[in-house]
Amino acid sequence: MTSIDNFSRGDGTVRDLPQLEALLRSIDGRGYKSYKDIAGKWSFPDFVLSIDHVQGDPFAAPSRLHVELTAAVAGLPSSSYRSPSRTRGTAACLAARFAAAARRASVPSGSGRSGEIRMAGPGQQVIVQTAVLIAADGAIEARFTLGLPAEGRRVAGQAAGRLLLRAVPDLVHRTLSADAHDPDEVERWAATNEDADAMRAALPGEALVAFVADGASLPRRTGIDDRPLEGPEVVEFQSPASLRVALDTPNAGVVSGMGVPEGVTLIVGGGFHGKSTLLRGLQSGVYNHRPGDGREQVVTVPDAVKIRAEDGRSVVRVDISAFIDNLPLARDTQDFSTPNASGSTSQAASIVEAFEAGVSALFVDEDTAATNFMIRDRRMQELVPKAGEPITPFVDRVRELFDSHGISSILVLGGSGDYLDVADTVIAMNSYEVTEVTQEAHEVAARNPTGRRVESTAPLVLPTPRCPDPHSVDPRRGRRDVSIRVPDPSTLLFGEHEVDLSALEQLVDRGQVTAIGQAMVLAQDSLMGTGKPLAEVLDAIEKTVAEEGLDALDWRHPGDLVGFRRYELGAVINRLRSLRVL
Ligand code: ADP
Ligand code: MG
Repeated sequence: MTSIDNFSRGDGTVRDLPQLEALLRSIDGRGYKSYKDIAGKWSFPDFVLSIDHVQGDPFAAPSRLHVELTAAVAGLPSSSYRSPSRTRGTAACLAARFAAAARRASVPSGSGRSGEIRMAGPGQQVIVQTAVLIAADGAIEARFTLGLPAEGRRVAGQAAGRLLLRAVPDLVHRTLSADAHDPDEVERWAATNEDADAMRAALPGEALVAFVADGASLPRRTGIDDRPLEGPEVVEFQSPASLRVALDTPNAGVVSGMGVPEGVTLIVGGGFHGKSTLLRGLQSGVYNHRPGDGREQVVTVPDAVKIRAEDGRSVVRVDISAFIDNLPLARDTQDFSTPNASGSTSQAASIVEAFEAGVSALFVDEDTAATNFMIRDRRMQELVPKAGEPITPFVDRVRELFDSHGISSILVLGGSGDYLDVADTVIAMNSYEVTEVTQEAHEVAARNPTGRRVESTAPLVLPTPRCPDPHSVDPRRGRRDVSIRVPDPSTLLFGEHEVDLSALEQLVDRGQVTAIGQAMVLAQDSLMGTGKPLAEVLDAIEKTVAEEGLDALDWRHPGDLVGFRRYELGAVINRLRSLRVL
């Protein structure tokens, strides 16, 4: 862990620029450690630069800095931070702008990361973050990293001067201060974000789990590039008349589009007709999106969780008996653990864990589901009698989930008609165009009985609470009390453990993983304990972040934390291979 004395935050003295210039001259050519002297606050003509942490050597993680601008210097229109939702949009706008400009302003030189300026800007989603913060009065704090320049392992004082005395102020002026703002652009981010929040908030009152506005653009550029697909081949979303609803927004007026009702919804259609793309649009709708993304007006209830099969994951003491019982070798599925789950057991465990965290809608795509978990048709029922098949397929639980527990499902299933009997709404995709075929689906189902026997033997009961053992969530590594690293957005290195997050499709930002790692430290340190169920730990973290902000997770106040949901926090804890449940 970074030692406290390298951190200057809290030390109130502010030195002036000539002192910084003189200091940089005096340490020029000395050992890299001399940079420690520049930690602290520096007064620039219209902002304060704070050098919060000085890296130990040119190859270490870059130094952490932030600037503070008063409301007068920032000059944001007051409408841009009138409400929390507007403020989030505006802050993301500034972070996007600063992050892009920082890449251009970087002056790579010398060894290691010398001269690199970086800010953790937003991706396509607009989520609360710590790169740029806007205070209630319109003052701005912007956090970034900078590779203090070195020649070999010596201080490159002149290069540092160019960066700190010219590049940084220039960057601040071009992206954060009054003349930098394009009021239309700022308003677009603020309004887009406010409208999305309003639409999401309206869903429960309309008994909807999701909404896709007419004109939305769902396809992405590639499987690994979340930016919108562009070009004449893109088919904009058009709602079928029978599912059309209109939602009121504070800025864009009345927005019309498709409402997906609560209950059991199927998305059917031929291969390559856009089913998975629609579902991915919906699962991303738990977040807001940046202007121009195409999904700005695609919103989903905040408690919707995408579930997929994830063979190989670890499962710790989860009661999956509602879906799977009588496993070979008499394994107890009411208290099921494995370091190496199968497709079906992993999917069952992920669903039960989502119940535990409070899910209100499950999203499943045939492309990433375990077939034997989803369906078991009549012929297979006859060939392999229930006594030899431990799985109660999802088709026999999905109605009950909604009718008895209020949990909706949206399922992409092009390949099995067995679900037609249990669906409330059936949406068909044909060449990216959507129609509602519920009526036909029910007629088809009536004409062609499946002949299946329902295989659930007892009512589904929601799981009993599990209490994680804090000692099993251990962030220590070597001599460090806390070691959290995120080498790529789908891997968390927590203490000595590597957690594979690639199946958590609703983790969309690396900063979420970092924040979740920190939240696990906080949870382990002060929230988990004998008799404290995981759901209550999630409540407590959620409350802390809501009340105190993401900064409550890390006293160093880094600029790379991004908001996360309780579902992803729970999912990461549940995937920790060291986890023990008391
Ligand atoms: P399915 O799940 O039905 O097999 P996908 O959702 O995977 O289909 O979509 C197939 C392809 O069509 C993908 O390459 C996707 O990017 C593209 N696509 C999806 N929706 C649209 C759309 N509205 N306009 C243009 N292309 C689309
Ligand atoms: Mg598909």
